Amino acid sequence: MILDFSDSTLKPINPSTVTEPTAPEPTTTGIHYQLIRSKRKTLSISVKRATVEVRAPLKAPLKWIKTFIHSKADWIHHQVNIQKLQLSDIYRICDQSIIPVLGKPLLLTINPNSNCKRSSITLNDDVIDIQFNTSMSLSSDEIEEKSTVIFLAWLKKQAQHYMSKRTNSLANQLGLKDKLNKISYRRTKSKWGHCTSEGNIQYNPLIIIAPLFVVDYIIAHEVCHLAHANHSKRFWATVEKTFPQRKHAEQWLNQHGHRLAIEINR
Ligand SMILES: [Zn+2]
Repeated sequence: MILDFSDSTLKPINPSTVTEPTAPEPTTTGIHYQLIRSKRKTLSISVKRATVEVRAPLKAPLKWIKTFIHSKADWIHHQVNIQKLQLSDIYRICDQSIIPVLGKPLLLTINPNSNCKRSSITLNDDVIDIQFNTSMSLSSDEIEEKSTVIFLAWLKKQAQHYMSKRTNSLANQLGLKDKLNKISYRRTKSKWGHCTSEGNIQYNPLIIIAPLFVVDYIIAHEVCHLAHANHSKRFWATVEKTFPQRKHAEQWLNQHGHRLAIEINR
């Protein structure tokens, strides 16, 4: 979210070097923000990942900046609160956290140690154990970062295993096997699945942390695109016939789709 305001009374700014971001500084309004001065003519406030950034011209007086922040305090607090809530909703790969995979809640245990030769991730019953070698003591952020990389590679394999098998069998069942060319997996920002006119289906492996019926819906949706490369009435009729829970799955994605993310604490 960005607010941008101009002030025509500001004098032209002399070209100069861009100042580095300063440490967050408190203001009278209780808003912690990072001030970034640069060769610009306007003030702007943005809130990303619950962090406030204020961009200002090089020579803009601090009093003007603070007045501006103060006047937008309600908006800033609102954004920070919403984003904090959304961030707390996102899955994190930390010791003793729980993450559902293919409809099954799994407990994570993370063990960095100097004895293990290489990174490993094993699933026993409902417990995923992540191990990796480390001879030095790591910060909790570093541990989370390493564990997340290992977990995401594992998650992709789980997605490949379940989704490729199901995609093939559904394409077979619907007489569309000849149209299916390649299945690939990529973490994209905007889509859970995609199907090209050449019959290449791409899935976002993160979808498998959604309930199983949602995963199955994404598969049905993309396989039906092998028959209709559009969102026509005929396409939706085929989807409904193949997957009668379609509306329920779409509703789930609308309501909870933002949770299908794995974040590293930054
Ligand atoms: Zn589609």
